[in-house]
Amino acid sequence: MSKLLIDGQWVDAIDGRTIDMINPCNGQAFTKIARGQAADIDLAVAAAQRALNGAWGRMTATERGRILHRLGQLLLDNAEEFAQLEARDTGKPMTVARNDVIAVARYFEFYGGAADKVHGQAIPYLNGYNVNVIRIPHGVTAHIIPWNYPAQMLGRTLAPALAMGNAAVVKPSEDACLTTLKLGELAMEAGLPPGALNIITGYGAEAGAALTSHPGINFATFTGSPEVGVMVQQATARNHVPCVLELGGKSPQIVFNDADLDKALPIIVKAIVQNAGQTCSAGSRLLVQQNIYDKFIGMVAESFRAVKVGTPEMDIDCGPIINAKQYGRVNKFVTDAIASGVPLIAEGSLAPNLPQGGYFIKPVLFGSVPRNHDLAYLEVFGPVLSAMSFSDEEDAIELANATEFGLVAGIWTENGSRQSRVAKRIQSGQVFINCYGAGGGVELPFGGVKKSGHGREKGMLALEEMSTTKTIVQYYN
Ligand code: NAD
Repeated sequence: MSKLLIDGQWVDAIDGRTIDMINPCNGQAFTKIARGQAADIDLAVAAAQRALNGAWGRMTATERGRILHRLGQLLLDNAEEFAQLEARDTGKPMTVARNDVIAVARYFEFYGGAADKVHGQAIPYLNGYNVNVIRIPHGVTAHIIPWNYPAQMLGRTLAPALAMGNAAVVKPSEDACLTTLKLGELAMEAGLPPGALNIITGYGAEAGAALTSHPGINFATFTGSPEVGVMVQQATARNHVPCVLELGGKSPQIVFNDADLDKALPIIVKAIVQNAGQTCSAGSRLLVQQNIYDKFIGMVAESFRAVKVGTPEMDIDCGPIINAKQYGRVNKFVTDAIASGVPLIAEGSLAPNLPQGGYFIKPVLFGSVPRNHDLAYLEVFGPVLSAMSFSDEEDAIELANATEFGLVAGIWTENGSRQSRVAKRIQSGQVFINCYGAGGGVELPFGGVKKSGHGREKGMLALEEMSTTKTIVQYYN
């Protein structure tokens, strides 16, 4: 049974309540977490405020950076245990979970190194004045984390927040939070002062809502669904607290008739199958130029038939869907599409001897998806690829932009002028040309436009999001 981390101490929820954690591979409870609520959030926010007024707030940027570096190293030292926890919580293949640990460690290494490289400005002003613009932390930052890449998403928001000297209260997902708790343990070992990081597990409507509406927070970052994103924005707005929202996507892979199809194929398939399609930046729409459509869809179909779904230990292409609700939702998209006559071109298979009661779904490729069909513009958040054809460059751009989302896009063409023209006109926060990375590395600023959210994480830009400025005007005459 896991506890809450408040002020450097591991404690039960005030009212002692707990939540069962469910293994997505068999639908069975395997451990319990504390069910934090508003009263626990109050304690965590107060502890964060004390940390800012105490040792953490007085620490130099270099010292903060050293702690983050130590945390990165501790994550690598404990990589196998960390990966096992992540795989158990989410059902993802062990290889993917192991890569996730390296990615989390990388966040702490990157932002540990960056902590003392954020400089201010000196502004020429009137005679007799010194004007300096310095970067300062927001103060207490709230972090609401989803279940799909729980460890990576935590590293993505926590590392830059701590690098800038903020104190954090983290509310991980009730569906997957074991690596967040482990990271809390390692952060204490790395020397993070009490209260600089507090972790409150619990339900979104309870602990999450209490945190984002708390008058004691100064900034919030939320990664999750667009619907909850609206609630978070409304809650923070009541206290005029700025927030970064990383929401969903329906990212297009645009394949022109001069593309290197052999090079594109494995990357396009991986971009939707990876993590069973539960990736905000999954390439879930495949837009192919008409005169190569049949040929390329045939190639994709063959790859889809080879995809296998299994448990973390089987360590094959992908694992189960996270929970019963998402499983039902993804299945409904598939059965509704079949019922409405959308051609099911190919599907992967479930590995033999899977445990009973797991949320395993075969990856599916749908072809000739009508442009006004749900599958053409709604986020499934499962291993479902919607293929559509386009006539020319203009049509491709129109189709690519024809959803409410705008997170990532992939462009496949050997024509350099077309690469630049299309990249410029695609509405999304990231564009990949002849490659595709689910968000890319820690160095690359990431975030959406339209209903995919606002604000930027990753890269040096995240340090600006995680801080604000103060202009100091000194008259010396
Ligand atoms: P979700 O919005 O249901 O939950 C996300 C987090 O918000 C969880 O920790 C949850 O407990 C919390 N939450 C729920 N209600 C809340 C409330 N009222 N106030 C505050 N917090 C609350 O989303 P999910 O089911 O965990 O994830 C699926 C969705 O998230 C998909 O739409 C996906 O695209 C999106 N997502 C986006 C990114 C990104 O980087 N853009 C990354 C991962 C997931």
